[in-house]
Amino acid sequence: MEQIEIGTSGLATSRIGLGTWAIGGWMWGGSDEKDAIATIRSAVERGITLIDTAPVYGFGRSEEIVGKALTGGLRDKVQIATKVGLAWADGKVFRDSRPARIRAEIEDSLRRLGTDVIDLYQVHWPDLETPFEDTARTLDALRQEGKIRAIGVSNYAPAQMEAFRAVAQLDAVQPPYNLFEREIEADVLPYATRTGLTVLSYGALCRGLLSGRMSATTTFEGDDLRKVDPKFTPPRFAQYLAAVEELKALAKVRYGKSVLALALRWVLDQGPTIALWGARHPGQLDPVGDVDGFHIDADTKAEIDTILARTVTDPVSPAFMAPPTRRPAGTP
Ligand code: NAP
Repeated sequence: MEQIEIGTSGLATSRIGLGTWAIGGWMWGGSDEKDAIATIRSAVERGITLIDTAPVYGFGRSEEIVGKALTGGLRDKVQIATKVGLAWADGKVFRDSRPARIRAEIEDSLRRLGTDVIDLYQVHWPDLETPFEDTARTLDALRQEGKIRAIGVSNYAPAQMEAFRAVAQLDAVQPPYNLFEREIEADVLPYATRTGLTVLSYGALCRGLLSGRMSATTTFEGDDLRKVDPKFTPPRFAQYLAAVEELKALAKVRYGKSVLALALRWVLDQGPTIALWGARHPGQLDPVGDVDGFHIDADTKAEIDTILARTVTDPVSPAFMAPPTRRPAGTP
């Protein structure tokens, strides 16, 4: 398994990270705890040592399951990345990175995760009602107190990261990034490369589209966000599926690989990146070995771009996932 240092924190981790949003169940149509625990343990057995979670994933459930899975001596073999700064009330999520909220949240996360230190602590979404400097100062204090080892932000723009970095050392940024969602190539990726930040690319499989298992008859259950994700609904679903079919053929002809391996390798070949791979069943991680042992050459990258331009004529960003920017009236 390839390794990478997270920024200049001195913390080394695997370049594939396990994403545990679906493990929390919320917005993924539920999850099974036994399977979830087995998935996390299986990831570690396969050399995936970075586990990415967040308080909001299942409103504490994902962090609790990660904590349970890492009992019995596994905690010290992994790097736990969790997040801060999304609050919830009555099932509605909103941004809150005020210092007092961070102070309360970290204690909840440490308890749920069953640990006394978080390896990478990331601000989940920019809180536009709180000065970035206040949030950064609080995280810096947590690092000095030994409660966290490295600091990251997620869904931040470069100007927001500049404000943050004026106060605290930033080691990582977590944006959406996959073959279909490439907005960060215009700003966040070059900024991160220039300033030494590690990029934890989320949705590396575009919420399963790039796994290669989906077809026009695929349906989603319960509160699964893909029911409303514009990539998974007409008219665009057919376009993305057509792209996947062509990418499948390309991956096979050029490298003898699956589209899943192509998609993850592509993310890893784009810069100082980590690919976050969401899974909730151990078998979903079976192809992990296929991601190694090859690189995507310039000609194949160009061919990928040609395929995407031809098939996805009406691309859409993942912006629909953004939580509201304003706190609800009456929030204490
Ligand atoms: P993803 O990794 O692109 O896709 C995950 C889904 O792909 C799985 O739940 C599974 O869907 C499907 N899948 C995975 N492996 C498969 C396989 N071998 N065969 C078939 N299907 C497979 O999406 P993601 O989970 O949204 O993103 C990864 C992680 O990034 C998250 O878990 C989370 O940690 C992080 N994230 C962060 C943010 C943020 O704002 N910072 C936002 C989104 C995600 P099914 O289980 O339905 O089959």
